[in-house]
Amino acid sequence: MTMVDVTVIGGGLAGLACAQSLESRGRTCVVLEAGDAVGGRVRTDRVDGHLVDRGFQVLLDSYPELPRVVDPSSLGLRSFIAGARVRTRDGWGRVTHPLRHPVAAVMDRFAGSMRWSDALALAPLAWRAWRGGALPSLGATSAHGVVVNAGVGAATIDSFLRPFFAGVFLDPSMQADAAAFDFRFSMFARGRATLPSQGMGMLPTAMSARVAPGTIRLGTRVRGIDRSGTGWTAIVDGGAMQSRAIVLATDGPSTRALVGSLPERPWCSTMQFTFDIARAEAPAAMLSPILFLDGLSRGPVNHAAAVSVVQPSYAPAGRVQWSANVVDPSWLAHADGTIEAAVREQLCGWFGTTAPQSWRLLRAQRVEHALPRQHAGDRPPEGSASPEPGVILAGDQVGDASINGAIASGRHAAELAERVLAG
Ligand SMILES: Cc1cc2nc3c(=O)[nH]c(=O)nc-3n(C[C@H](O)[C@H](O)[C@H](O)COP(=O)(O)OP(=O)(O)OC[C@H]3O[C@@H](n4cnc5c(N)ncnc54)[C@H](O)[C@@H]3O)c2cc1C
Repeated sequence: MTMVDVTVIGGGLAGLACAQSLESRGRTCVVLEAGDAVGGRVRTDRVDGHLVDRGFQVLLDSYPELPRVVDPSSLGLRSFIAGARVRTRDGWGRVTHPLRHPVAAVMDRFAGSMRWSDALALAPLAWRAWRGGALPSLGATSAHGVVVNAGVGAATIDSFLRPFFAGVFLDPSMQADAAAFDFRFSMFARGRATLPSQGMGMLPTAMSARVAPGTIRLGTRVRGIDRSGTGWTAIVDGGAMQSRAIVLATDGPSTRALVGSLPERPWCSTMQFTFDIARAEAPAAMLSPILFLDGLSRGPVNHAAAVSVVQPSYAPAGRVQWSANVVDPSWLAHADGTIEAAVREQLCGWFGTTAPQSWRLLRAQRVEHALPRQHAGDRPPEGSASPEPGVILAGDQVGDASINGAIASGRHAAELAERVLAG
């Protein structure tokens, strides 16, 4: 049996951040990861010469935790235009960040893509977030309440804010907790949405390079944990790992399989359709490095992007990679083929051509447990990160459900483990 100070179960962002933090304190640890690579929910695969992320994700360069765990300049980040093209009854509108692209933002307003009163209601929120301040919630507990209280009208909420934040929370209800909404609003206001040169999976790979060689054991699923003497034993196929403390940096359902007493939390799901298109045949309207939103709620696609226009390394030369994403539970209840047919039909409507009917589907990817739901009251109460003495929870199951939250939770778990080791 091997003995270390801390066993970290799970090699996602939380587990890797935890291992980095423990090692920087001079502690020995091992990361046991069931999968064949690090990253957990942040993985990128090579598919026919494309880099395909497992679900559409972006890395916000404003995340405060990022520079603690990687050198962001090593990721070759390329950014989206700060804003979105929005499909409305009148065709395409555009909303751009008023402080990052002020001229475009004013032109968008004159083009009528948002009512002036709504633009004037949103501008002070963007200014406040840009300067690092919190949004005034005025007593609201949900994202919807915050923007209504700020004076934003229903048309702008439904055509722009709802699909934008449905893509962020993977939840079209706008019922996300006001604090979680405030954090994301401020990260988008202050930073850029980016894609790394080798796909989103480049982030965990870079994080793992900062962990001592031999610390991470891939293909090692933990079957159970047992108290043993003054510490804990993690049971793996054909062996065991003993340590003074255990960090469960696992996703929520996997954690419950190891510590049955934990309450179940609702999760949000998503499905990504990734298409490969000859650049010469792609409708010109789609070749913009910006997010495309469905402001009509008339089909399965909530948000989409020509990801290789943002980050050219995502597609081979002469090809475009288009990512179309579904988050509405009523659409996700259908069979994959039914959703795909409706996705193609919706995209034909978006681009006024039948071309999407012939686009080659590279991959249809469902992610059932994509993000824990983040409505008010969903987040576990403070202090619940340690269900048993010496067992510490990390990951977006206890922290904010984001890349930043997962990394922060891993660092926090290392601090709690340090207390166990010191005590
Ligand atoms: C489709 C999608 C889109 C997203 N979009 C964004 C975005 O744009 N921006 C953003 O900030 N966040 C986004 N997120 C959220 C972000 O990716 C997650 O919050 C974060 O990656 C969670 O990391 P984690 O380490 O907590 O958990 P995970 O990544 O789930 O890692 C848990 C690890 O534990 C391992 N494991 C589980 N059980 C065991 C076991 N018994 N033994 C050993 N190993 C085990 C798993 O294999 C996994 O590697 C998105 C997530 C998804 C799925």
